[in-house]
Amino acid sequence: MRKSFVLCFVFLFSFLFQSCSSLDPDESDINAMALKAYNEVKTQAKISNNAKWTAMLNRVAPRVAKASGENFEWEWMLIDSPEVNAWCMPGGKMAVYTGIMPVLKTEAALAAVLGHEVAHATKRHGKQSYARAIKGNLAGLVIGVTTAVGGQMLCKSESCRLLTGLGGAAAGFAIAFFDHKFSRENETEADKIGQEYMARAGYDPAESIKLWERMGAASGGKAPPEFMSTHPSDVTRKQNLSKWLPEAQGIYTKSPQKYGLGENI
Ligand SMILES: [Zn+2]
Repeated sequence: MRKSFVLCFVFLFSFLFQSCSSLDPDESDINAMALKAYNEVKTQAKISNNAKWTAMLNRVAPRVAKASGENFEWEWMLIDSPEVNAWCMPGGKMAVYTGIMPVLKTEAALAAVLGHEVAHATKRHGKQSYARAIKGNLAGLVIGVTTAVGGQMLCKSESCRLLTGLGGAAAGFAIAFFDHKFSRENETEADKIGQEYMARAGYDPAESIKLWERMGAASGGKAPPEFMSTHPSDVTRKQNLSKWLPEAQGIYTKSPQKYGLGENI
């Protein structure tokens, strides 16, 4: 009788602790959740054995990471999947899906996508999106973070369902990161900063405009990838990127290494 009372207390305490600590996470909490989620994806996902694309990602990712000036513990992987997607978790953990590569067409376009995703991480958009997810679905999130089953029910994407198996705060993070979209303001900021990052990394920033044209054409009818979601309309996005281009070109001019469009994909 006494033992079950203690167990019950321990359970209740851990429930409250998990819920509360994940309601107002600081940066190290967020990064720890992201790292746990990233390692789980790495374990579960099929890593691509495409040597050409892997070499390309191994060139571009560190250049963009360095251009951001952020001192993250950067990591990246190329996931073998038809999904047209890429992301960078808080703390600098990136993934690119092979499905996006034929759409990109150039190495510079890969730099543009990574620039955009890395900007979400350096501008701490994940924390804002996490906060909005909690506000929007407090009860659901509490269930989500405390039981894997509850989390699964809340997930819309496959990536999210995969990670709720972890339970705890990492499950809550998965729901916020994969299923809760960044705001339109965040997307616009990521477009601007991403264009700067690709330019500083040595890639022709004009390619960012062509990239979004190709992405728009490729996503016709299908579910949009992360960076097309809550997007400023294609027209607005193109207008913005064109407006910012002279500034980005100034950065590109000063870049010590210039790769232009890089290799074709
Ligand atoms: Zn985005």
